[in-house]
Amino acid sequence: MRSSAINADTALAAIFGDPVGHSKSPAMHNAAYAALGMNRMYAAFRVTAGNLAPALRAIAPLGIVGVNLTVPHKEVAARLIKDLSAEARTLGAVNCVVVVNRGGKLRGDNTDARGLERDLRDLGCGLRGRLAIVIGAGGGAASSVLACMRLGANRIVVANRTPARAVALTRRFSAKGVARMAVEPRGLDALMDSKLLAGARLIVNATPMGLTTRQFARLDYRSTAADCLFYDLIYSREPTAFLKPALAAGRRATDGAGMLVNQGELAFRLFNRVAPPAGVMRAALFNELGRALS
Ligand code: NAP
Repeated sequence: MRSSAINADTALAAIFGDPVGHSKSPAMHNAAYAALGMNRMYAAFRVTAGNLAPALRAIAPLGIVGVNLTVPHKEVAARLIKDLSAEARTLGAVNCVVVVNRGGKLRGDNTDARGLERDLRDLGCGLRGRLAIVIGAGGGAASSVLACMRLGANRIVVANRTPARAVALTRRFSAKGVARMAVEPRGLDALMDSKLLAGARLIVNATPMGLTTRQFARLDYRSTAADCLFYDLIYSREPTAFLKPALAAGRRATDGAGMLVNQGELAFRLFNRVAPPAGVMRAALFNELGRALS
């Protein structure tokens, strides 16, 4: 379809990851290019961990306008790229790379936290004075903690399979002076702590549980408050293993499709210095997922 328009003037944006074949970013970005009539295309490159450094060095010489990074590159890139946005530095992870000058200097940014924050705002999930529980302690969890802080949570509990990683994540936020409130590390036992769960306004899954495993960890859904929102960073056609029991318990539950669209729209602006037309990237994602637009 679009390929007939590709010519010697076509500029390229891309995503680097391994694996990368599952990425929905090419569909979202290319839909926006088509809607704007821009002579640009967005491609997916399978870049192994060992090839990240040379792949980053190739961005400027090849004239690539911007690159998204996905698994397993986000944290390593934050160590390789010297010029980082405050957000990428706080999170210790980069998901967007742009060329900032004619000398080919790269700048690393991260749009995940802003993507989640915007989705939670759209969902009406105010956190002022409330507790949020984040499950996981990787890059997605770090973005979730930052989004919850910005939404005014007064307490955030990070529950992770490996408690030491939860401790390291909470320390990172305290050490940088980012957190003005308690960010507490726990093991996954926190998910059966009925007293804790009863106070939560938001529970975020920032692990691949349910994707890589059929089941989710044991969680006492029925002890949660009626206004508790369950948010899974994973997105799929059907409700995920984390969300299904929440829906059965009558709680509000949503997956990470909105976050993905939002971070994609922010990346599109960074790469192309123009906003994508409203709704186009969302429609492309939902089409890819085989879901009706909600
Ligand atoms: P990550 O850095 O690899 O972190 C994974 C976390 O999940 C770790 O804390 C790990 O615990 C935990 N975990 C993994 N397998 C587990 C299992 N079987 N049981 C219990 N805990 C397990 O991954 P990430 O980059 O944060 O991504 C997490 C999820 O969020 C992924 O599914 C990713 O696709 C999704 N995500 C979505 C968006 C979006 O836009 N919607 C954006 C970013 C990420 P240990 O510390 O014990 O290993």
